[in-house]
Formats: sequence, C-alpha cells, structure tokens
Amino acid sequence: MTKEKILVIGASGQIGVELTLALREIYGNNNVVASDLREENPLLKGSGPYVSLDVMNKEMLHVQVIRQNITQIYLLAAILSATGEKNPGLAWHLNMQGLLNVLDIAREEHIHKVYWPSSIAVFGPTSPKQHCPQQTIIEPTTVYGISKYAGEFWCNYYHMKYGVDIRSIRYPGLISYKSAPGGGTTDYAVEIFHDALEDKKYTCFLSEDTYLPMMYMPDAIRATIELMEAPAEKISIRTSYNVTGISFSPKEIAAEIKKHMPEFEMAYSPDYRQGIADSWPQSIDDTVARNDWGWKHEYDLPAMTEDMLKHLPETPE
Ligand code: NAD
Repeated sequence: MTKEKILVIGASGQIGVELTLALREIYGNNNVVASDLREENPLLKGSGPYVSLDVMNKEMLHVQVIRQNITQIYLLAAILSATGEKNPGLAWHLNMQGLLNVLDIAREEHIHKVYWPSSIAVFGPTSPKQHCPQQTIIEPTTVYGISKYAGEFWCNYYHMKYGVDIRSIRYPGLISYKSAPGGGTTDYAVEIFHDALEDKKYTCFLSEDTYLPMMYMPDAIRATIELMEAPAEKISIRTSYNVTGISFSPKEIAAEIKKHMPEFEMAYSPDYRQGIADSWPQSIDDTVARNDWGWKHEYDLPAMTEDMLKHLPETPE
C-alpha cells in the first residue's frame, strides 16, 4: 500500500482540529500536515507538522502539495452560513475559488483522494421539511447554500471528467466542545452549553420550536473517516451525501440541559439567523449513505448533552 500523506486545509477550525487529531491517530502524526490562514490551534500544537497557508493562493498551495509529497487533501476552509450572509461576495469567492484551486491541483498532481464538506444549507424553502431525501428539489436561498450546491457539482464534474476521487458529506449543524464554531446558524447548540456552565442562562437567537438537523462531533469525524476509507466502488454519490444524526429544537435541548442543571434558564431573541434556519429542512433522510457505506449515527440528544456537560469544563478556552 502506498504511504499516504495528508494535507488538512482549515485545520484550526471547529472540524479541522478534531479531524486532524483523528487522522494523526490513524496515519501517524508526521503524515498529517495541518494548515490554516490563522495561527495553529493550541490543541494541535506539538502533535504534528503545521504550515501557514492561504487556499486562495494557488501557487503557494501547489508548492506545499509537491514539497510535502501530499497524497490526500481535506479542504475545510470556508465561510459559513451566518457570516456568509454578512459578506456574500467574500463567501462566494472563498468557497468557490478555494475548492477549484484544490480540485485543479488534485487533478494535476494525481492526488489519491480529496475530501470537501457540503452542508444541509444546500436545501431551501422548497425542499421537503421532514426526512429531506438525497435527491429532491434544491433551491438554496443563502449565499453559503448556493456556494455549497455549486461546489457539489464541481466535485461531481472533476470526478466524471478527470477521475478525481473526491468525496463529500452534507454535514448538519455540528456540536463540539474542543474548538469553537465558526459562524453558522446552528452555533446556538454549542453556545448554549458554554453559557449554561458559565451563567446558568442562555438567550437563543432562534425561536423555541426551530427544529434543525444536528450531529455530535465524534459522529461527524467518524462519518468523514468511514466515507474516506470506503472502497471507491461503494461510492455512488459524487456530489455530496446526506448524513443524519439528531434533530431537535432549542426548547428540547434546553429541557435536556435542565435535567442535569435544574436552575438553567432559557430566553429567546430570534435575529436574522431565524430566516436562514426557517429555509432549511428539519430532518434529513440518509438512506443512501447507510446503504452505500454503512453510515449509522451513535449519539442521540441525551447522550450528546451528557458528554458535552462532562467534557466542556475540562477543555481550555
Ligand atoms: P470554521 O470556520 O470553524 O473553520 C474554517 C477554517 O478555515 C478556519 O480555521 C479559518 O481560519 C480557515 N480559513 C478561512 N479562510 C482560509 C483560507 N483562505 N485559507 C486557509 N484557511 C482558511 O469552519 P468549520 O465549522 O470547521 O467548517 C469546516 C467545513 O465544514 C466548511 O466547509 C463548512 O462549510 C463545513 N460545514 C460545517 C458545519 C458546522 O456545523 N461546523 C456544518 C456544515 C458544513
């Protein structure tokens, strides 16, 4: 078997930190190069190589891929849904050009595998609200959703036309305690734990009955690695796979936290992110991922809440 050398772009972000650490466990510390525009996340320090890299600088990226003998690329650098609505031009530019730079280099350098996440944000108000299927009406209304949907078709194109082995998941909102979320509409489900532990109260920027698809980070990391390790012939979707974990509302997660912390209080003050949340499905159907590569989530709302409340206080800010 060829020795793999992995480049993670956007390694200092919410997913990047945990994915880099998980990949280092599997492939060895020195075979996973972390990179980001911002400084190395403290949780990564000392665990393996780090390079400062701007995915928009194609030449610099190309040089690093050659210099480090990279065989797999995980592209996580992006501008997320809520931040994207504040600066649509920048979100489109980074989310598209960053991906095209990686796809071009992957093609030229015969990179073995590329991973790039899409999002449930591809779905829009005309998509089914419940158990939204893999193939359905997709008319996104945020710039983030538009960029992800376009990106999915670029991935499919590079696979069909140039044989690039690119794999992708439409992540739901991700909940984690190790690194902070990066400006998404589902960030409330992480903030709530921080504020519950610090102040015993939280004011939510979504209304109490806003159901959204979510997933606990250990499930998301496992889904990513299982997809990337699946034999190529099992991968029938080269746009991006629906995967699902848990669907809940702010009211339900507050009630779950109250079981551990009866004094916890929740208030609601919906802002512009309510409109984004209302455009998305409330739950996702991931039958295709389950059938193709055996995906199955483990964490439900009670298990995730218990684990977050246990580990968050031990995690350095
Ligand atoms: P994040 O914002 O926490 O991390 C992104 C990282 O990319 C940051 O560390 C940032 O510094 C880096 N970055 C930004 N511009 C860069 C550039 N030009 N060059 C190099 N690095 C740059 O985001 P995340 O939550 O870790 O998301 C990672 C991926 O997963 C994104 O594609 C995102 O759209 C997708 N996703 C995330 C979620 C979620 O809930 N977190 C849900 C769906 C999809």
